[in-house]
Amino acid sequence: MYTVALTGGIGSGKSTVSAIFDQLGAAVVDADVVSRELMRSGQPALRQVAQRFGEDLLDEQGVLNRALLRQRVFADTVQRRHLEAIMHPLIRDAMWRQVKQADAPYVVLVVPLLYEHQADYPTHRVLLVDVPEAIQRSRVKRRDQLDDVGVDRVLASQSQRDQRLQIADDVIHNTTTLADLQVEVARLHQRYLRLADVALIERETQG
Ligand code: ATP
Repeated sequence: MYTVALTGGIGSGKSTVSAIFDQLGAAVVDADVVSRELMRSGQPALRQVAQRFGEDLLDEQGVLNRALLRQRVFADTVQRRHLEAIMHPLIRDAMWRQVKQADAPYVVLVVPLLYEHQADYPTHRVLLVDVPEAIQRSRVKRRDQLDDVGVDRVLASQSQRDQRLQIADDVIHNTTTLADLQVEVARLHQRYLRLADVALIERETQG
């Protein structure tokens, strides 16, 4: 299966871009979606999280209070690393299982922390959605109703823009309109279809 890892900082436009790829016919496997599935009531991962971070994170139905978990771990690097250590291998394994089952010309894996976990996502290509920090700030503040301190905290917890640029094969500069973004993603879709075809022909002629 031909694979493209899609990454970018918070609020850069990953979900918007992956929704366009999905509409165009690529399969999308999103780490945030998989993480939410793993944290559904009754899932073993949720049990581990409650044991480590407090049973009061779950209501009577066993449903996770996400805002409380975020509050508890986000301000504290050690706690955040503990949460990542529990969740990351489970998310990675579930994502690759979904890739194997995908029925599409290629798969887009949405991995926000790709720079931090490159070895776990050996994809054919890396696509970065890039925005200058000023745009990133204003879009995240508007979307999540955060103040500057809240945005600072999230930005400090992620890799830096230049680190992400280092690992990218393709870059979308998401600085203009959603209409422009649509055109750019459609162009990349055509390119990935061609590359996936070439990879398939190479495999068939070798094997
Ligand atoms: P997160 O890292 O939090 O998951 P994300 O990278 O998935 O965020 P999106 O949710 O796709 O980012 O985009 C962030 C916000 O910016 C959303 O409200 C989205 O509608 C808006 N947005 C994305 N691209 C554009 C654009 N080109 N023009 C205007 N608004 C945009």
